Amino acid sequence: MEYRNVTGHIYDIQGYAVHDGPGIRTTVYTKGCPLRCLWCHSPESQRHEFELGYLPIKCLGTELCKNACVDACPEGAISKNEPVQALDGSGLIQKISVDREKCTSCLKCTAVCISKALYSAGRDTTVDEVYERVIKDVGFFRNGGGITISGGEAMAQFEFTLNLAKRLKNDEIHICLDTTGFAPAEHYGEILPFVDLFLYDIKHMDSAMHRRLTGVPNELILSNARYIAEQGGALQIRVPVIPKLTDSDANLRATAEFCASLPREAVKLVQLLPYHKSGRMKYERLGWKYKLTNVEPPDEAVMLKVLEMFQSYGLNSQLH
Ligand code: SF4
Ligand code: SF4
Repeated sequence: MEYRNVTGHIYDIQGYAVHDGPGIRTTVYTKGCPLRCLWCHSPESQRHEFELGYLPIKCLGTELCKNACVDACPEGAISKNEPVQALDGSGLIQKISVDREKCTSCLKCTAVCISKALYSAGRDTTVDEVYERVIKDVGFFRNGGGITISGGEAMAQFEFTLNLAKRLKNDEIHICLDTTGFAPAEHYGEILPFVDLFLYDIKHMDSAMHRRLTGVPNELILSNARYIAEQGGALQIRVPVIPKLTDSDANLRATAEFCASLPREAVKLVQLLPYHKSGRMKYERLGWKYKLTNVEPPDEAVMLKVLEMFQSYGLNSQLH
């Protein structure tokens, strides 16, 4: 199959992924997404542009580094903190702070930071480069495993995602495409022959509420789900259960009804995703505010009731 070695923006590639589709997988995380979900677990994936990340735990202190990052910053955005005890008990060290108002994401400081405490969230790559990396993992793909192209929204870099899928399909690798559904229908039609399973979120059935929670309405997402299903695509639908935001009985029932209205053979699985807090630390690394500070994960009993309700519609459903 012909493909083009186009460039793309990614922010990570992770092996041994067990939550990104069937079996053991390697996941390619693309950068850039048209949605802004309040509970987003990967804020580093949202913007298409590269940006500065800072992991204080890795900072060695300015004395050891001879002020390298402070001096490298043309904007004066990096300053030294008050001295603190080093974790290894070797004495006082001065870690740094980044003034996000001044930072222009030029990334010059990342070039001098030997410990990678300062790092670029995102990098340029090509279809061939990603292929060469992920193909090394083929021996680990068990129980229907393979490659998942995720994000961000991989369809926002359509040429890159399409050509990567084509390149991988030449090796008959099982491909999952993790998508918000917020992309032109014709793009889904074009990529469909190269995708074995679409991991597809249905976040809220009310369009105005969907816009409040994610920044975009839901009509395109719902119509694309139907389009993919009617064109013979396979869907693993994922439903986030976020207390007070998506967990009303009316919304979850409407979601189950929608899933049940799709061609039955297309909906392989409905996964119910309980809200969790694991992405919060990532917001700090980017200097962003996490908005759902008052939301707690739902109880297991609540999730089991939701599961029962989805199963009552005859849907193959499970808790994530
Ligand atoms: S951020 Fe990096 S370069 Fe700056 S003091 Fe810490 S380890 Fe050194
Ligand atoms: S990325 Fe920000 S903090 Fe780093 S050198 Fe550029 S302006 Fe300064």
